Amino acid sequence: MYSNMTPVAVYLHVPFCSTKCTYCAFNTYIQLEHLIEPFVTALIAEIRLVGRSQPGLDVHTIFFGGGTPSLLTPEQYARIFAALRDVYNIYPGAEITLEANPNDLHRDYTTALRQVGFNRISIGMQSANENELQLFRRRHDNDAVARAVTAARAGGFANLNLDLIYGIPHQTLDGWRNTLTQTVALKPEHISLYALGLEEGTAMDHWVNTGRLPTPDDDLAADMYDLATEVLGAAGYDQYEISNWARPGYACRHNLQYWRNLPYLGFGPGAHGFAGGARYSVLLSPQRYIKLLQDVSEDYQFPRAPVTDMFDPVTREGEIADTLIMGLRLVREGIDRETFRQRFGVDLLDVHRAAIDRFTASGLLSVTDERVTLTDRGRLLSNIVFRELV
Ligand code: SF4
Repeated sequence: MYSNMTPVAVYLHVPFCSTKCTYCAFNTYIQLEHLIEPFVTALIAEIRLVGRSQPGLDVHTIFFGGGTPSLLTPEQYARIFAALRDVYNIYPGAEITLEANPNDLHRDYTTALRQVGFNRISIGMQSANENELQLFRRRHDNDAVARAVTAARAGGFANLNLDLIYGIPHQTLDGWRNTLTQTVALKPEHISLYALGLEEGTAMDHWVNTGRLPTPDDDLAADMYDLATEVLGAAGYDQYEISNWARPGYACRHNLQYWRNLPYLGFGPGAHGFAGGARYSVLLSPQRYIKLLQDVSEDYQFPRAPVTDMFDPVTREGEIADTLIMGLRLVREGIDRETFRQRFGVDLLDVHRAAIDRFTASGLLSVTDERVTLTDRGRLLSNIVFRELV
């Protein structure tokens, strides 16, 4: 088990968007902007309630995701940060990220965000090709991304991420190369890639199922991944995780917390958490969330709140399995054997010796005295490795 002294990460979910993208299955709602202010009040109530049940926890990363967190005002964020600072010990150099739509980033806004405490912005670029942005029904065009980056830099942000999607119906290798080239030209510190998944209930899934769009081609998507590895590597980005690249020193500390299977608190509708020996989630509906957090007087046992939905205690075996699946995504770090031994009291090789020997012999895993990592080939076949190890 991880130590109680381990600093936690905090994720806060903002479940509002101005428009719905055609591929999106996140817990987010359009035309509910009138609920943003009551949501902020409820979020502050949830933070205070959970914080009161285990005050003074050390926090080293904070991430506002969504949804579209850039719909909130700096003044609303100032109030949320005041609540977080009241109940947690936020490290002076904590990484504090806002996910943003490019259209929302103007110099006045980014300057104010920096002043209230943000030091990293993750911009939803997704593609540099207008036809793909239109297929996604993104509310920004490609020029807006360059303007957003300029506004973020002008506001004082030295740590930017750009999110990209590949494996899109009708996407070509040349189109993807254009997206990668334009992304690199914007000089972000960090780049995250997402292979398009067809999620049930989305417009994109419906269009593919009804033949209006071709089924994405897995082989082409694999070629796109290889191309990204080549282009981003040549541009000096370090691939530190299966789908994430960064300039040296700019790996996302918040996501590293997930991949190292370390504790994080989740606030806001649909957020997930891993703390107090359990995985848990917050209920989905913003309306119910707001209602249940009015006038709360009872005490709840950490990290529960009146809005807690799923609450699943984690067994030692489950925690080991999660640690392996997530840790092996880290390209060079993999699983640190000494850290594993300290956490679980046993050598990783003694837990899965037969499978590890087999995958090492077949060139999918690399084992040294320090760590266990996936090889390049193992990364391509990672699902097979993960299936066997859990
Ligand atoms: S902006 Fe993000 S969260 Fe909102 S609909 Fe689009 S993909 Fe989903």
